[in-house]
Amino acid sequence: MDDPDYRKLVKETLFEVKDYTPGKSVEYVKRKYGLDRVIKLASNENSFGASRKAIEEFKKFEDLHIYPPSQPETLIHKISEYLGVEEDRIVLGAGIDGVLENIFKIFIERGDRVLLSPPTFPYYHILVRIFSGKEVECGRDENFRMTYSGEKFKLAIVCSPNNPTGNVERKEVVEDIIDSGGIVFIDEAYAEFSDENLLEFAEEENVIVARTLSKAFGLANMRVGYAVLPEWIKKLYLKVSTPFPLSTPAINSACAVLEDLDYLRWVVEEIKRERERVFRELSKHVKVYPSQANFLFARLDVSSRYLCELLMSKGVIIRDCSGFKGCRDGDIRVTIGRSDENSYFIEKFLEVMDEMGGGVDL
Ligand SMILES: *Cc1c(COP(=O)(O)O)cnc(C)c1O
Repeated sequence: MDDPDYRKLVKETLFEVKDYTPGKSVEYVKRKYGLDRVIKLASNENSFGASRKAIEEFKKFEDLHIYPPSQPETLIHKISEYLGVEEDRIVLGAGIDGVLENIFKIFIERGDRVLLSPPTFPYYHILVRIFSGKEVECGRDENFRMTYSGEKFKLAIVCSPNNPTGNVERKEVVEDIIDSGGIVFIDEAYAEFSDENLLEFAEEENVIVARTLSKAFGLANMRVGYAVLPEWIKKLYLKVSTPFPLSTPAINSACAVLEDLDYLRWVVEEIKRERERVFRELSKHVKVYPSQANFLFARLDVSSRYLCELLMSKGVIIRDCSGFKGCRDGDIRVTIGRSDENSYFIEKFLEVMDEMGGGVDL
């Protein structure tokens, strides 16, 4: 007998999920193009790295054979002090990605409506498919701010500052969404880089505000995310979460970065200053949007697919957004790194635009 086609057993909605194409690594690009210097400004990582104190703390750990605590009180306490929020409204997860997955586990089953506002963070679309939900679209204006016009939903995701566009959402609009009767997940991965945040809404009984140590705190590899939510949702969260979402080295380094807020403030100031400089430089040549995050979004009138390939061959990796739902070929996102990296990016970007006939005056 022939082997049965086991692929038939896979959840149907997964066939709608595009294969994940990870960004190219620095090592890959160095090898492929024989380059000595390659910089990566494609994943909104923190080029300054984590606080030295966190790295020291990470290195000390030896009890690799022991399970970590499930929701470590020490870390929850530090986050509670950092935000000024009660401990019993805080939960931890393996990054915001892990936190959001738990929220889907609690609320979303086949056919449930999830409100998303493209262009936005691609993982949201993937989760809707995995949980067989139904995507409902909320519009955006010409500056990419959400324009909610009463669409019905069970779960809404508000990303502010939004990835990849960098804008924050208006409080009045977020309030309308919150008042419309569903659960609202607010993703504030970039809150530390922004002049405004939406944390006050976490007081509401239907709102979850998620944050991460991956971006401003420079702990992307440690996978530490958290959320502020109502106690009734926290109870459910603890039921659905995997038992040990965070490793002890992650917990320890997270506590250490939260003890070194001087370093955080210094890094954030550097990145914000550089963000304004890169914005001014790019604005002379292309349409670039103001940003409250550690990246800039630009809409070019040349192919971003081609431009990003060319840039890569010159040793600069940035994000081509043409594959993002709601974007077009021409859209790019560049992370703000250290000053020397940003200057290198600007130099190579203008070179490539010139080669592509983008009308850049050098
Ligand atoms: C980077 C990013 C995340 C992922 O954060 P982790 O805590 O590393 O999982 C989530 N949401 C947005 C909008 C992001 O840009």
